[in-house]
Amino acid sequence: MNRIERLRDGLQEKGIDAALIFEPHNMYYMTGFTGGEGCAVITDNRAYLVTDFRYIEQAENESPDFEVVRVDNQANELSGFINSLSIKTAGFEEGFVSYSLYTDLKSKLEGIELVPLNGLIEDIRQVKDEEEIERISRAQSLAEEALNHVKGLIKPGITEKEVAIELEMYIKKKGSSSLSFETIVASGVRSSLPHGRASDKVIEDGDFVTIDFGIMWDRYCSDMTRTYIVGKVSDKQKEIYNVVLEAQMTALEGMKAGMTGVEADKLARDVIEKYGYGEYFGHGLGHGVGLQVHELPQVNKRGVKPLLENSVVTCEPGIYVPGLGGVRIEDLLVVKNNGILNLTHIDKKLEIL
Ligand code: ZN
Ligand code: ZN
Repeated sequence: MNRIERLRDGLQEKGIDAALIFEPHNMYYMTGFTGGEGCAVITDNRAYLVTDFRYIEQAENESPDFEVVRVDNQANELSGFINSLSIKTAGFEEGFVSYSLYTDLKSKLEGIELVPLNGLIEDIRQVKDEEEIERISRAQSLAEEALNHVKGLIKPGITEKEVAIELEMYIKKKGSSSLSFETIVASGVRSSLPHGRASDKVIEDGDFVTIDFGIMWDRYCSDMTRTYIVGKVSDKQKEIYNVVLEAQMTALEGMKAGMTGVEADKLARDVIEKYGYGEYFGHGLGHGVGLQVHELPQVNKRGVKPLLENSVVTCEPGIYVPGLGGVRIEDLLVVKNNGILNLTHIDKKLEIL
């Protein structure tokens, strides 16, 4: 079943006559249009892409299955177009539509009730098709190539920022348009900051160095983390590293479709708690990855829904001890009915640089 059919099924289940899609990732997902400006309107038997004169030609090329409608003044004319459709309810993206857009539409729509879509499109996006998985894998393998390249440069004296810049230059030279988020390079005591952006800190002997980064390939994201140690290693560092590794391997072995995000999270959390580091694992096990680097499903204590086959998620337990440092190991994987398909192939045994 294609994406629009899945959306129509969902609309029918919720008793909604049409979806108004403003969010650029959702719009691209449903229409193929990369302009990001305008509104896709999908009813039970018609599909429109409403945009302004700057994008008409592009919309016609990128979205051949949609009727392209030109509306140069969205604030005034979009509601007129929606009013011309014979619908009684219109679903909107409650997490994206601004209060001002909502109130404006509400005041101009005649006899049409605005109702939240309740994450309908984001739910559909969880399950990836072959082409999406292919793009994510390509992003991931390029990211691994880049990490292997910079690993050789990490030594006492180089700054976190220099490592991050080198990574970015490498992936740009190889044709990736951009990063999926600002690269995290956190070393020494800074490695206990789970989201420590690369700083001017100089990497020193005995530091943990956590590198968490992702790239975009054909609009799809990758995400991975590796933690290294530079120079001399303490027993405590070794212990923390091996607990995180055991937690991750346990989760990877146990994860499969049908289990909830909570259950997946618990696989790793139980291991970390068993070794007495539970309080230092303060975030969830993972998250969905696709057009956005953080999307559904939730793989954490709030993930009450079962994981679906062919969703793409991360598995990234970590331990962060303030004043000492932190370790996170993150793989990107496809959830399958009988287990997982790991898209991350780079080594993760403790490596001393
Ligand atoms: Zn990450
Ligand atoms: Zn992540």
